[in-house]
Amino acid sequence: MSVQGNYDVAIVGGGPAGLAVGSELSKKLKVLVIDKGEPPATIKAWFIPKDLVEKNPDVEPYTFGGVTRFMAQTYSGAKARWKTELFDRYPYVKPEILGYWKNIIEKNGSKIVSRCFYEDHLAANGKVVLKTSKGTAEARLLIDASGWNSPILAKYEITHNSYYWWSVFGAVAKHPGGIKKPMEVGDYMLWQTFEDTNLDKNASLRSGRPVFEYEIYDENTSLSLVLWLTREMVDVDFMKEVYLRVIREEKDTEPFHDLEITDKDWRYGWYPSGGLTMRVARDNVAFIGDAGSWCTPCGWGMGFILDNYKGYAKNLIQNINENKLDRSSLENLVSLPVYDQYQTVLNQLASHFLANGTAAQLDKFVKLFNQDSSVHVDPIICEKMFTLKITESDLKTCINAVLKTFELKELIEILPREDYLLLLKLGELSIEEALWDKTYRLLHQGKGPKRPLGDGYSF
Ligand SMILES: Cc1cc2nc3c(=O)[nH]c(=O)nc-3n(C[C@H](O)[C@H](O)[C@H](O)COP(=O)(O)OP(=O)(O)OC[C@H]3O[C@@H](n4cnc5c(N)ncnc54)[C@H](O)[C@@H]3O)c2cc1C
Repeated sequence: MSVQGNYDVAIVGGGPAGLAVGSELSKKLKVLVIDKGEPPATIKAWFIPKDLVEKNPDVEPYTFGGVTRFMAQTYSGAKARWKTELFDRYPYVKPEILGYWKNIIEKNGSKIVSRCFYEDHLAANGKVVLKTSKGTAEARLLIDASGWNSPILAKYEITHNSYYWWSVFGAVAKHPGGIKKPMEVGDYMLWQTFEDTNLDKNASLRSGRPVFEYEIYDENTSLSLVLWLTREMVDVDFMKEVYLRVIREEKDTEPFHDLEITDKDWRYGWYPSGGLTMRVARDNVAFIGDAGSWCTPCGWGMGFILDNYKGYAKNLIQNINENKLDRSSLENLVSLPVYDQYQTVLNQLASHFLANGTAAQLDKFVKLFNQDSSVHVDPIICEKMFTLKITESDLKTCINAVLKTFELKELIEILPREDYLLLLKLGELSIEEALWDKTYRLLHQGKGPKRPLGDGYSF
């Protein structure tokens, strides 16, 4: 099928972002979606906060089961385990939701062209000419939904606003004799580490420590993954090698030793982390989904899309009707509710902490969530942090616990200098008076004087 024709909107990428936004736009506009693959096709599985399903009944039929228990276990002995508190479960979204959006687009008379590669585009005189491997199309607006490795971002030399990349490799696969105790359906192992993955036993994630994660879908099936949180993306062949060694040989992954993996079971990808969502657009060109850094700083990309696609499409239709498709109008369109909220800042701080903390420091962090720990943080705060639902009082508890648990010197090592400003933003509302000196000295790289009374925060 050729792409030839005139459209209101041309979308490059038929993944979750392109199809979700495309389905809404197609209700009012003539839309073209191209994808180099065969949509609906996905290599990914998603679990999302339950309130996103409650807010959007369209999503409900495409969900099943969900995460009901969170766990963490480090090789050096720190453990945390709790039943989900914020919601009774975090549902899984089935890949079939892509087919649902695809049908809406086609029923509304818009077009999806598969196995069609983006080649180039020219945005000029209020329209865009899009060149693809299946012909040339014209549109008033081009939407880039081609994911983290977008050729359109590359053309504009726009780089992701991220500090780190999550590199992920694993499989959705069967356990031949069923899942084994102590694992239960609904388990989510957030964080498991091993002693022998790094020569330096204290290595941080940023310096290459892999983390093992798994989710138990049902009595026979799990998704297991190895993740890296590093400045550079990790090579896929190397990830596969480490994953196979971890699931086949580590003594603490015994329930996975006989996992049956076929070629269609592999799951892998990369997504940016640790930066705030960027507002980016060019005249007549918008960026959404992973291409637009539409994710929480910890990489909850599908959740972010489900939370925002309807609102985004509604505003975009208005802009198209009013012919406001210049760069600044399109940038302002992305007034997603999470902007400017301090929870994204806290989420970002947490990402840095996870990336840079040594094994021993991460143990101290995990132990904060244990009931018997002297400084205790309710694990619900962890859930709230990753779903951007932190309240001001949660924030206080969290910052104060970290300041009580870690030495000044440690914090200077863990947090990048850019984060001191973030801490300052949070500090004003969060930090107990007794801990203020520590924060003040941290902001001065540990060298500053004790905070003089009545001092401002200039540095
Ligand atoms: C292993 C893994 C697990 C994840 N788990 C979760 C989770 O549990 N919860 C959650 O909320 N998020 C999760 N995420 C993140 C989430 O999957 C992504 O944020 C989401 O898929 C982004 O959707 P997208 O449409 O922007 O990009 P993509 O899904 O990457 O889709 C981009 C589409 O563009 C097409 N394309 C690319 N280049 C071209 C080109 N040159 N020409 C034509 N087409 C092109 C691709 O074929 C693809 O179909 C996970 C990610 C990974 C990798």
